[in-house]
Amino acid sequence: MILHFIFVIKEEERQKRQPEYEYVKKMAQFFKVWIKEKFGKDFEIQCDELITKPRRLFEKLDTHTLLRDHDQRGKDIYHFYLSHFRPLWTDCTCEGYYAENFGMVYWKPPPDPHDTLYLAEKNCTTVSHELSHEILRSMGYKKHKDDIHEIWTKHFYDQLHFEQYGEDFKPTEEKPMFLTLDTSTLKI
Ligand SMILES: [Zn+2]
Repeated sequence: MILHFIFVIKEEERQKRQPEYEYVKKMAQFFKVWIKEKFGKDFEIQCDELITKPRRLFEKLDTHTLLRDHDQRGKDIYHFYLSHFRPLWTDCTCEGYYAENFGMVYWKPPPDPHDTLYLAEKNCTTVSHELSHEILRSMGYKKHKDDIHEIWTKHFYDQLHFEQYGEDFKPTEEKPMFLTLDTSTLKI
């Protein structure tokens, strides 16, 4: 099984956002380990950029564009888009969307592109949210939507901490490099 992360980036911002892409590449490897540990699934990880050019208004990029891209690349590969636009529709309580073998999140650009804590808090967490939906769905976990959203609410309103991981992908109490939702109450 292949899990392919795709950093969707505007051509004119590519240079400036290079540090974010460096983070994305590390995060992709982190999630390989995290998914194996939490869900017992082995994914081969791929990671690259999708560079978008300025378009006319009526050609605006949206979720359909990404779904089409996923279709063309091959539906048997799990494509996960880290995108500079928000999902057009979603049932999620975060700015992300999932479908079969498909994920996307709105990737929030940090004011300082080297701010890994910002990336962990705002983006890595959302990626873990959408990955959990799709992986649990594929495993036949019926209540994944409710369960994940209940945990998510606790993270934001109930002082439940995100799981913290260091640069070595191991849990840490120090400043984290990666943050994920707390999976301890999921019945996996
Ligand atoms: Zn959700």
